[in-house]
Amino acid sequence: MTQSGAVPVVFLGGHGRSGSTLFSRVLGHVPGFWAVGELRYLWEQGVRRGRMCGCSLRFHDCPFWSDVGKEAFGGWDQVDVGEAVRLHRTIERNRYLPLLVAPRASTPFRRRLDRYAELMGRVYQAVRQVSGCEVIVDSSKFPSSAYFLRHVPDVDLRVVHLVRSSHGVCYSWSKKVARADRGGRPMARHPPTRAALEWVGFNFATDALRALGVPSTLLRYEDFVARPRAEVERVLRFLERERRAEELSFIGEETVELGSDHSVAGNPVRLRVGIEHLRLDEEWRTALPPRTRRMVTLLTAPGIARYGYLRPVGRR
Ligand SMILES: [Zn+2]
Repeated sequence: MTQSGAVPVVFLGGHGRSGSTLFSRVLGHVPGFWAVGELRYLWEQGVRRGRMCGCSLRFHDCPFWSDVGKEAFGGWDQVDVGEAVRLHRTIERNRYLPLLVAPRASTPFRRRLDRYAELMGRVYQAVRQVSGCEVIVDSSKFPSSAYFLRHVPDVDLRVVHLVRSSHGVCYSWSKKVARADRGGRPMARHPPTRAALEWVGFNFATDALRALGVPSTLLRYEDFVARPRAEVERVLRFLERERRAEELSFIGEETVELGSDHSVAGNPVRLRVGIEHLRLDEEWRTALPPRTRRMVTLLTAPGIARYGYLRPVGRR
């Protein structure tokens, strides 16, 4: 069925290692929703490098993404991939946030923005047509991607701002994790100082979307893990897409049951199927050295207060 009008897109914003990959998969399994993973990496990791899709096939072997390419452009080989990658790199970066807020300040930037917005508008429309979904879930997270999406034509943007405790996030960035979707290569690591400063920057920039008129709701990862069903229902109310209880039966008290999906990029959780146990990784409480812990507290104090981490998690 051909659908017309603006495409509803739920953008999962916030900092890396905040549980966005898992949450996007849960939301993507709600009837009518479709998770595409981190779409900001479409051109570089999908079209150019042909990396693995969430369905375990390589991007160009995946029937879903092949059909999206045909629907949007008559095939991915009909697009100048080099141009698309250049546009992504010179627009979807947090350093360009001021220009994404006020693109008229630079004529060359505004021209690039118009061109890239037109390309991505076709991609979002094609994802909706090929999947037949009502709502696309994009877990790109970066504030720059959310600010960019405001300019994409015919996209009805809403943001779920995922936050996880700064100590948990900083510890996660310091850990060695092998990527199942990249032949065991390690995930990127950042020292705690950098992770703490980015945690503040990413979260506060995501918060600022509200001031620009983008409908947004906050979701603490700890609350999602403590009561997944209730938090998903709350997010669905925010999106004005409430679902019947039986449509959410894959979400239990402590587990979720996931099939595969076609995520273009994300953390290795995107490949797992079956029963997923939801539990909070609290390893940082013992593994983070006291000095590092104090430093993270100091650097992220405004966010710790703002996002309610002064009271025990899982309670309101
Ligand atoms: Zn796929």
